[in-house]
Amino acid sequence: MNAPLPTETGHTLKLLINGQWVASKTEHFQDIVNPATQQVLGRVPFATAEEVDAAVNAAHQAFASWRNTPVGARMRIMLKLQALIREHSPRIAKVLCAEQGKTLADAEGDIFRGLEVVEHACSIGSLQMGEHLENVAGGVDTYTLRQPIGVCAGITPFNFPAMIPLWMFPMAIVCGNTFVLKPSEQDPMSTALLVELALEAGIPAGVLNLVHGGKEVVDGLCTHPHIKAVSFVGSTAVGTHVYDLAGQHGKRVQAMMGAKNHAVVLPDANREQTLNALVGAAFGAAGQRCMATSVVVMVGEAAEWVDDLKALAQKLKVNAGHEPGTDVGPVVSRRALERVQGLIASGVEEGAVLALDGRGVVVPGYEQGNFVGPTLFTGVRTDMRIYREEIFGPVLLVLSVATFDEAIALVNANPFGNGTGLFTQSGAAARKFQNEIDIGQVGINIPIPVPVPFFSFTGSRGSKLGDLGPYGKQVVQFYTQTKTVTTRWFDDSSVNAGVNTTIHLR
Ligand code: NAD
Repeated sequence: MNAPLPTETGHTLKLLINGQWVASKTEHFQDIVNPATQQVLGRVPFATAEEVDAAVNAAHQAFASWRNTPVGARMRIMLKLQALIREHSPRIAKVLCAEQGKTLADAEGDIFRGLEVVEHACSIGSLQMGEHLENVAGGVDTYTLRQPIGVCAGITPFNFPAMIPLWMFPMAIVCGNTFVLKPSEQDPMSTALLVELALEAGIPAGVLNLVHGGKEVVDGLCTHPHIKAVSFVGSTAVGTHVYDLAGQHGKRVQAMMGAKNHAVVLPDANREQTLNALVGAAFGAAGQRCMATSVVVMVGEAAEWVDDLKALAQKLKVNAGHEPGTDVGPVVSRRALERVQGLIASGVEEGAVLALDGRGVVVPGYEQGNFVGPTLFTGVRTDMRIYREEIFGPVLLVLSVATFDEAIALVNANPFGNGTGLFTQSGAAARKFQNEIDIGQVGINIPIPVPVPFFSFTGSRGSKLGDLGPYGKQVVQFYTQTKTVTTRWFDDSSVNAGVNTTIHLR
C-alpha cells in the first residue's frame, strides 16, 4: 500500500474497472460526512450506466482465465490479503470510525469479523471439493464438480462497511468467480481501502471491480445480462426489490435484510451477566447492528429488573467514536437521526412509557453530531410502530409476559427472523427454546449470536430471501454450480454388449 490511495486523491472516490482506478464521468456526487462533526470527508460518484456496463464487461472478460486459475494460486492471494488486512487494520479502522461513526474498538471488530471470512477463504481447497462414488453401475463412476458461476455482484449496507463486503468478494473470487462490488454510498471509503489491499494481494485486473452509486447502479447490476448472482445485504424494502428484480432477470439471489431481534429473559438467569449483555447488545454501535437486541421480553419476576437495566444504560458514555471511553457513537446521518427521533415520538404518542429518553443529547465539542442516547421504552404493545418497525438506533423496548410459552409465541409471531437470545440457567429451558423458536440464529446467554465463518449466517423468515447464507459452507454453494459427471471407460478387450435402449445403466 505504498501508492496514494484512491480515497486520498482529491477526496473524490474512484471506480475500479479492469484493474484501473478511474475518475467517474458522472455529474452526480454525494458527500461522505463524518456523523460526529458533519465534516465532509470526501465525495462519492454515482457511476453512469456506461461505467457499470464497463465494470461488468471487465469481470466477464476476466472470468475466462480466472475460472481456470489453480485453486492453490487463488488461495495464496487470500493468504496475502489476510496478512495485508491485519497490517492495515488500525488505519482502516480510523477511516471507518470517521465515516461511519462507530467507536474505534467497534471499527476494529468490524474489520476483524471480515478478516475471519478471508481466513476461511484460505481453506477453499477442501471447501470446494466435489464428491466421487465409484461403481454406481458396472464399471461406471459418478462425481461432482463445484464450478464457479461467472460474474457475481455484491451490494452492501452502511452499518458494516468492512465486514459485509468481506463476506462477499473474497468467497466469490476464491471460488473462481469474478466480482463487481457496490458498497453503501454513505461510507464507501473503508471498503475502497480493502479493495486496494485486494489488488495489492494479487487479484488480477478485472477479477474484482468497484462501482459506487445508489438505486440506478444497483438496478443496473441486477438486470445486466452478464451478472449470474447477486448478494445483497441491507434493509427489507430494498432487499425485497433487489430479490424480485434480479430474480426476474434470471440471477441467483440472496438477500439478508432487516430485523427486530428479541431477547427472552427468564427469572433464573444470571442477573448481572444478563443485564450487561442486554445493554451492550442494544446500545453498542448506536443500535445500528442487524443483530442488535431491540426487544427484551421479561418473563415473570424478571420484569422487576427494568430499573437496573435503566441504571446501566444511563451510565453509557455518548461521544464521538474516536474519543476514548465512548460507548455510544452517533447514528450515521441526519436522516437516520430524524427517523429514530420520529419513531421515539411515535412510541410516546401511542402510549408506551418512555423510561429513558435519549433525544436531545448534546456532546460538548461535537454539538453538530447525530447523537441519540440510550433510550428505553416499557409498556410496549405489539401493535405500536416502535414494535412493528426496525428502529436501527439505540432504542430498547421492554415487554413483560407471564410465562415462557407466551414469550416464545410472541417472538414467533414477529415477522423478522434474524436473531434471538435466551437468558437462563436452565438447560431444559434452553433446549425447549432452541427447538420451538422460529428464528434462524439463536444465542443461549449470548445476545448477538453471529456465527463464525466456519458456519454460515442463517437469519430466516422476514430477515432473509433466498435459501443460502452469505459466508461459510453455504456461500460456497451459492457461488458455485454443481456439475455431475458419470463416466464409463472401455479398454480394448471390452466385449460388445450391444445396443441398450433402456434408461438403466448396467
Ligand atoms: P439500505 O437498504 O438502505 O441500503 C443497502 C444498499 O442498497 C446500499 O448499497 C444502497 O446504496 C442500496 N440502495 C438503497 N436504496 C436503494 C433502492 N431504492 N434500490 C436499489 N438499491 C438501493 O440499507 P442500509 O440503511 O445501508 O443498512 C441498514 C439495513 O441493513 C438495516 O435494515 C439492517 O437490518 C440491514 N442489515 C441486515 C443485515 C443482515 O445480515 N440481515 C446485515 C447488515 C445490515
